[in-house]
Amino acid sequence: MKIIKSFLIFIVLTLITQVGGFVFFIYEFIHPSFSKKIKSKTPRVLAKFGFFTILYLVFSLIIIPPIASLCGRVPLPFLFEKSDYLKPANAFYGIANRHYVKPELKEEVLLLAEEFCTDNKEVKQLIYLDANFPFIDGFPMHPHKSHSDGEKLDLSFIYRNKNKKVLNSSPSMSGYGYVEEPKKGEENGVQKCEEVNKYYSMMYKVTSQNKDAQFDNTLNKALLRKLCKNSLINKVFIEPHLKKRLRLNGESKIKFHGCHAVRHDDHIHIQM
Ligand SMILES: [Zn+2]
Repeated sequence: MKIIKSFLIFIVLTLITQVGGFVFFIYEFIHPSFSKKIKSKTPRVLAKFGFFTILYLVFSLIIIPPIASLCGRVPLPFLFEKSDYLKPANAFYGIANRHYVKPELKEEVLLLAEEFCTDNKEVKQLIYLDANFPFIDGFPMHPHKSHSDGEKLDLSFIYRNKNKKVLNSSPSMSGYGYVEEPKKGEENGVQKCEEVNKYYSMMYKVTSQNKDAQFDNTLNKALLRKLCKNSLINKVFIEPHLKKRLRLNGESKIKFHGCHAVRHDDHIHIQM
C-alpha cells in the first residue's frame, strides 16, 4: 500500500513540476533517518512535510536553474531575478518549474515587454503563464499539447478594472479561464470545438467569470501586433473571434490552434 501511495505521489509531482518526483524519491531515502525517531504522529507528519518542502524548494529555486541553463533553458523572472516589465501570474509557475524557455526567447520577451510597457505607460508589467519545464524536449506539460521544447510561452491578455485602470494582474487565480467570449453576431468557434473536445473549455468551467475585469481591445491589439512583428516569434494563437474583433486579419502569424487544444480567448500563446 505504501509503495502504491509513494508511486502515485511520484507520478503526480512529476506531471505537475517535472523534477518534483525526483525530489520525492530523494526525500523517501532520507526522511526515515529522522522521522523514525519521532514517536508521536502529528509532529512526525509535520517534520516530514517540512523537510520535503525545504528539499523541494532548494532544488527548484537553487539547484535546478543553473543545471537547466547548461541544458539550454533558462527561467523567466521569478523571486531572485525580478524584471520591471515581466512577471508570472502567480508564484505557482515559478515554484512548479513551469517558467523555463530557451535563452533567446527570454531575451526577446523581456525586451518586448520593456518596449511595450514603455510605449503604453498604463501597463506596468506583462504577465506570463505556463512556459516549459526545465529539461527534456518532448516531456509533456499537461494540459498543453505543446510547451515541451522551450519554445512556447503563454501570456495574459490585458484587462481594466471597474475604475477603468489597467489591472496589471491576472483576472483569475490561475491566470487561465477568464474568457472573452464570442459576442452576439460573431462566429462561435468555441462552441464548435466544445462539441468535439470536451476539455476545450475546461479552465473556463472552473473559473469565476465575475465580469469586473474588462478586456482592453486597444492594448491587446497593440500587444498582439507587437508580438507578430517580432522576428523570433513564429506563431501566435488566439481564438478566431478575437482576431476578427481586433481587426488583425492581416497578421498571418496569428493562427487557429485547432479544436484538439484548449480555448484561447483567456490567454495568448506564442511560439518560436
Ligand atoms: Zn500555450
